Amino acid sequence: MRIVFMGAPGSGKGTQAQRLVSHFGIPQISTGDILRKHRKEGTELGKRADAIMAQGLLVDDATMLDIIRDRVAQPDARDGFILDGFPRTQAQAEGLATLMRDLGTPINAVVLFEVGDAELVRRISGRRTCSLCNKVFNIYTAPPQVPATDCVPESSEHQLFQRKDDEEATVKERLRVYDANTRPVLSYYSDAGLLRTVSAEGSLDEITRRLRDVLVPSPAVRKPAKKAAKKAPKKAKPAAKSRVVRRKPARKPARGKKKATPRPLARKVRAAVRKAGKSARRVVRKVARKVRAARRKSKR
Ligand code: AMP
Repeated sequence: MRIVFMGAPGSGKGTQAQRLVSHFGIPQISTGDILRKHRKEGTELGKRADAIMAQGLLVDDATMLDIIRDRVAQPDARDGFILDGFPRTQAQAEGLATLMRDLGTPINAVVLFEVGDAELVRRISGRRTCSLCNKVFNIYTAPPQVPATDCVPESSEHQLFQRKDDEEATVKERLRVYDANTRPVLSYYSDAGLLRTVSAEGSLDEITRRLRDVLVPSPAVRKPAKKAAKKAPKKAKPAAKSRVVRRKPARKPARGKKKATPRPLARKVRAAVRKAGKSARRVVRKVARKVRAARRKSKR
């Protein structure tokens, strides 16, 4: 399954993508994480992206498409992926469509995470990342465990820091950039019939459930399809069976004879009675004798 997660910064795309990775057995591809890794490693791209990211602006489309082209070609993305943070512009969306068309693996669904503005600000300003294990927490809504059992083995405590682009001034700019560049992409996917909207407020489990519901057909929808698939061969079978049933008495007269014989007898009798008129009774007895003799013969 190839899925795109869209939504404003802080709408929870990354958190939910991490939760769905094991459910669907496909990787999360976060362009923000890829760029942050480049920054940390001090690559050429990292150096270029550094200032852009610090201001809450967007890295250019050609660079982002190159990153995605390389990443979706990795073996772990063969059966699908969850794109988190890409596409962010119309040009990226169109570039992605072309790439997927060339690969013969189109995008299956685009999910929009809907969150009110006040909640967005609360989430972003409370977001902290652990510099040791890279896990993302929220000091208001999802604080880390103390002591930490889910950090790197050498540490019993997460080392939290606030991303530079999560600071207030940058957050405002990121929200403005989202409205100006990314929001218009939603109608592109809506027109393509791919867009599904999920309310991304509430508990993490609730949101995950909603996501699963929109991404996987519910059992109520799946069942009839299964039944229909099973019914098809069943429908064919009775026809074949009925042919066999009809043939059986002919092949094994001894078995079906008890029920089958009264009918021919009655028919013969009626025909004979019609023919014979007054001497009907005599004829009836004669025919009955013949039938009984035939029965005895077939028994032997
Ligand atoms: P994120 O963690 O997804 O919010 O991304 C952090 C920052 O990385 C963004 O504010 C942008 O500066 C940059 N970035 C991530 N994804 C993209 C993208 N698809 N196009 C352009 N810039 C991006």
